[in-house]
Amino acid sequence: MTATRSRLLTALELAAAGVPVLPLRQGKVPFGNCRACAKNACGGRPNMKSAGPCQCPAVCHAWAAATTDPDVITSLAWTAAWRQAVAVAYHPGEAELTVVDLDNSAAVEWARETLPVTRTVPTTRGEHWIYRGAMRSHNAVRPGVDIKSFMAYARWLGPGTGRMADLPSAVRDMVVKEETTPARGEVVSSVSGRATWDRTVATGCRHTERYVRTGLDRGLAKVCSHTESGAGSQAFGVARFLAAQHAHCPGPCGLDAIGEEIVAAAVSVGVPDTYARRAVANGLETAPERAACKPSHNPVNGPQGAVQAVPRAAVGEPKGVARQGVLSALRPDPLPNTSGGRTAS
Ligand SMILES: [Zn+2]
Ligand SMILES: [Zn+2]
Ligand SMILES: [Zn+2]
Repeated sequence: MTATRSRLLTALELAAAGVPVLPLRQGKVPFGNCRACAKNACGGRPNMKSAGPCQCPAVCHAWAAATTDPDVITSLAWTAAWRQAVAVAYHPGEAELTVVDLDNSAAVEWARETLPVTRTVPTTRGEHWIYRGAMRSHNAVRPGVDIKSFMAYARWLGPGTGRMADLPSAVRDMVVKEETTPARGEVVSSVSGRATWDRTVATGCRHTERYVRTGLDRGLAKVCSHTESGAGSQAFGVARFLAAQHAHCPGPCGLDAIGEEIVAAAVSVGVPDTYARRAVANGLETAPERAACKPSHNPVNGPQGAVQAVPRAAVGEPKGVARQGVLSALRPDPLPNTSGGRTAS
């Protein structure tokens, strides 16, 4: 069997299992767009972030071309691409999967210490850790670590080994932290009318007003000093830190007002409001000490307001993919190991 044929068969098997696939060219990157699609002149594919009308039969638009349709995969335009392809890739998000792409041994080491064990696939210098569940993708969430799910592609390197675990919050939170980097030009000018913390909202707090206010002011200064990037991350960290200070207070401590102040500070240096809210809500929620003693989502700490009402992770709804099929495709044995076309004979 030629390498081309082997890759095509792999692609068809994955597609049959509900995993959308695409070919990768030399350099293990997607093929460039055709002339009609160059610079997105076609408007882009319907599944892209800004949905477009593109029905181009070629493998244009990178991950957005990934399909489970065997007629497309074996079409003339795709056949030409498969002949030049060097690898098969898939769109993890559409298959309800998230790939934590660990580029090197240091990153793998970090994952082993930090993340729940799951299905792993060896890569050239590192590993893919595959979790069940989709999320927003993000590159470089830390050195050598990319998160590939929605709107991204991952190289198919065989089914890997190990039992696939559900996507852990440890992975989700990394992206929430990172995506809070301010987008230029999105500064919201007015942040008036937001709640501010004072003693009257913290009737169950064990700390002095001065203690809380000083900590909060320091935190706000920290957030505001990150005008170029990272203010969102900083907001997450500050919220988490401040919430932890109240782990042993009977409450309420006015954490919602504290959260509002952090959100306002982050927004004032350009963090989009929704990102800021999500980062702060997650920070308050994941404070190390708090998580343990806080009754689960019980509003014993008084009305929590907008900060707590923010949804934890705004990921798209799973598409109508045959989940069973996906899982069966990724089980240890149904597919030959086709990584790098080594099955060619
Ligand atoms: Zn095209
Ligand atoms: Zn197009
Ligand atoms: Zn307190």
